[in-house]
Amino acid sequence: MKNLTDLSKRDLKILFDHIQAAIALVDREGELISWNSAFEAGKSQFPKANNLKELFLQKDAGVIRSKLAEGIKDHWAGEFAVTETDAAVLCDFWLVPIDDRHMLFIAERIESEADAEDMVEKLRKQVRLFQVESEYSKKLARNKQIEMEAVIAQAEEVAHVDPLTFLPNRRTIIKDMQNEVMRAERYRTLFSISVVDIDNFKLINDTYGHPVGDEVLRHVAIHLRDGIRHPDVVGRYGGEEFIILLPNSDRNAAVEQAARLCRGLRDKKLLVKELELQVTISIGIAEFRIGEDSWHSLLKRADNAMFEAKNLGRDRWVVGD
Ligand code: GH3
Ligand code: MG
Ligand code: MG
Repeated sequence: MKNLTDLSKRDLKILFDHIQAAIALVDREGELISWNSAFEAGKSQFPKANNLKELFLQKDAGVIRSKLAEGIKDHWAGEFAVTETDAAVLCDFWLVPIDDRHMLFIAERIESEADAEDMVEKLRKQVRLFQVESEYSKKLARNKQIEMEAVIAQAEEVAHVDPLTFLPNRRTIIKDMQNEVMRAERYRTLFSISVVDIDNFKLINDTYGHPVGDEVLRHVAIHLRDGIRHPDVVGRYGGEEFIILLPNSDRNAAVEQAARLCRGLRDKKLLVKELELQVTISIGIAEFRIGEDSWHSLLKRADNAMFEAKNLGRDRWVVGD
């Protein structure tokens, strides 16, 4: 073990750089000559400073000036290497005369045990607060997520469901038809559609009023929905027109269904606002032709067949050719 007086310059530099205190060699005017890394850490906030005085706040400038002039060994406390807006860091200072012209400036942070305990307690409180807050935020986020999912579900429903009849709307049933056409084409399977139109519906509106017309529309929608079998689907195509998709079905299956739907409705008495109404439908059927049809041409044939059923006297079905 060497005596401290035997330490080489290099040893001293290593020693100084491993000390947490900020140490600088200054002249009597406070001009900085050399300093250790702890001092550099504070000084880096003031890159242009070359005098110790510049590292003190304006209010403490007088103190450091007089301490430099006095050249006495007793220590004092204050702030160092901070700007006006920084949190206060209290230090103990020493100015130790080395020779006639030089002094060693030492600044060491004052961290009493009480301060440390305060700090730990403060941190603990912050952690607890953060935990409570994050539980609350998690709950908020969960509720928001649920709310958002409900809104999305509603929006999806609005986008796909006809609000009057609750059947798939025009866009949806056309999209479903396009998908079925693609499937029939790809897998060379059967596929038929029916276009259903209420007979003399205008007369119902004109005779009993629009709200009764709406109610009739709902009755017919329910009749169609309940009269088809899985995986058939029915959607509202327009005002009083519906489309039925019959996957894996040929025209005969569609004919059988159309006959059942026409007959069923004809025999039904619709109770609408204390009125007993009888309503009939006309149906046009078309079977998908693989390699020939598009969804559009298929629909056109079914539509034409439906008009033919109208021309033939309504309340009937026609298969398009
Ligand atoms: P056809 O037997 O030839 O089909 O005669 P129609 O009277 O049913 O045919 P038309 O196309 O002339 O009339 C359909 C009517 O449906 C006209 C329109 O005002 C009515 N309509 C369309 N959408 C609705 C609706 O949502 N509610 C009601 N109440 N009426 C509607
Ligand atoms: Mg019509
Ligand atoms: Mg009609």
